[in-house]
Amino acid sequence: MSSGRLSRRATLGALVTLPFLASKARAAACPADPLGTARTLPVGTKGGLFVGLKSYPAALPITEGEFVLTFDDGPMPGVTERVLDALAFENARATFFMIGRNVKANPALARRVKAAGHTVACHSWSHPWTMRQRSFAANKDEVERGMRSIADALGEPGAPFFRYPGFADTAELNAWLAEQDIGVFGCDFWASDWVVMTPGQELTLVTGRMEKARRGIVLFHDTHAQTAAMIPDFLRTLKRQRKTVAHIVPGPGGPVTLPAPAGWTKSVS
Ligand SMILES: [Zn+2]
Repeated sequence: MSSGRLSRRATLGALVTLPFLASKARAAACPADPLGTARTLPVGTKGGLFVGLKSYPAALPITEGEFVLTFDDGPMPGVTERVLDALAFENARATFFMIGRNVKANPALARRVKAAGHTVACHSWSHPWTMRQRSFAANKDEVERGMRSIADALGEPGAPFFRYPGFADTAELNAWLAEQDIGVFGCDFWASDWVVMTPGQELTLVTGRMEKARRGIVLFHDTHAQTAAMIPDFLRTLKRQRKTVAHIVPGPGGPVTLPAPAGWTKSVS
């Protein structure tokens, strides 16, 4: 190979490297007015908690314009990091309902979520579909194994917060979760990000639902690239519309909830 070809390769290398460095520098610089996390909301789960208007006639005690960001099904290498970067850029904190076996496969990523100040919670061990078709013993094992994998990865227990795969709860497991002082989280609205769509379509859909809900727990999945691509714009939209982020953390005592509006009906089966 001639020295000319070598130097051309070196030049190309520099051209490739420089924009990459520039974009890293941009990513590190936060905006002057980040969205932020307006408040940390301790959530007591003693004796059981069931919140989220899609499933239960109770909501978290948050005010109009306040939203709780939740991400399910991770941690997922290549996607969760992008969600974390977007949240860090706007200094916003969220709750990640993780699948135990994903935590076991990616313990460092689970630790990174925790180290960034987010809440790590449990979304079962293996995401069975559905828990209603399995025995109580198998379901109890799903929760215990899921929580154990989180504790193993983090070196401490995660939050005593659980979200059923597909919101498919069972009366028997609900009673056991309440006895264990584990809170059950549904959600108030979602992005339907399991449906393939562009980030722009997802943004339009979820911000429209946010307008209707006016407050509440929103569900995303940090396993879908379209969501990771959309989250920066979603956070900017919250900021532009002067909406705020409430970050849920484990709290003392029993549940404090708001009742569902009159005429409420369950919207998941
Ligand atoms: Zn899920």
